[in-house]
Amino acid sequence: MSADLSSVAVHTMTNKPWSLAQCCEHYAAAGFGGVSVWRNTVAPEEGGVGLDEAVRIVKGSGLAVPAYVRGGFFPAVIATDRQRAIDHNKTMLDEAAALGADQVVLVVGAVPGMPLSEARKHVADGIAACLPHAEQVGVKLSIEPLHPMYAADKSCINRMADARAVCEQLQHPMLGIAVDVYHVWWDPDLDREIELAGQQGTLFGFHVCDWRVETRHLLTDRGLMGDGCIDVAGIRDMVRSAGFHGFDEVEVFSEEYWAMDQAEYLALIAERCASQLGSPHSA
Ligand code: ZN
Repeated sequence: MSADLSSVAVHTMTNKPWSLAQCCEHYAAAGFGGVSVWRNTVAPEEGGVGLDEAVRIVKGSGLAVPAYVRGGFFPAVIATDRQRAIDHNKTMLDEAAALGADQVVLVVGAVPGMPLSEARKHVADGIAACLPHAEQVGVKLSIEPLHPMYAADKSCINRMADARAVCEQLQHPMLGIAVDVYHVWWDPDLDREIELAGQQGTLFGFHVCDWRVETRHLLTDRGLMGDGCIDVAGIRDMVRSAGFHGFDEVEVFSEEYWAMDQAEYLALIAERCASQLGSPHSA
């Protein structure tokens, strides 16, 4: 089955063993339309090639950049740490603008032992402090609700409804939601929340992968679409029906797939996009 991959982007973390240059070269050659760039491939302090080189690579590839990943982590006990998080997110917005990215994805954070209600307040305050900068550089911020198994230390926002609450509180055109099937597939209100987000203009991103049964690791055992139990095509229909016409972003963290030959793996990703995502949409 041959696929139209022009509306599909791949997250660089999906092919973790590859450099940014290798990711971009292979994605473009395979016909993918975009690359979502993780900061570890860019920032020298995280092992990346540096912003100027990253911009040269990405722009040279001709690929669109739906997302720069990942900002957030706003809650902190000490005020100076909260300010540091805000400054870091502003830096990420600058880098995203240079890369031509549409949005910075926010994994909002949580602090073990801090009440989730307090953490959510830190998140709203932190995002509010970043929004003027987002507007200035023309890059959106998208809250990614994370599965509740991450509520202790990674995200105090776990459902679409919780992300919507922040969007409704801050009411800013640069703030929306990234829907990742891995995190929200179980939500009984998913259909209604996606529809609401569509109406409110906050559907900014759509990430695809699968939930393996049994899952073997909380972070690094995601499946490729078709490996697990998520109705990816069904959820994709929901976001399309709600008016989302952005990229399907393939985001898979998997020790098993990282151990594969990455070119063979990318061919498998292309196959699964063709067989598991449903009908191609017209851009
Ligand atoms: Zn995601």
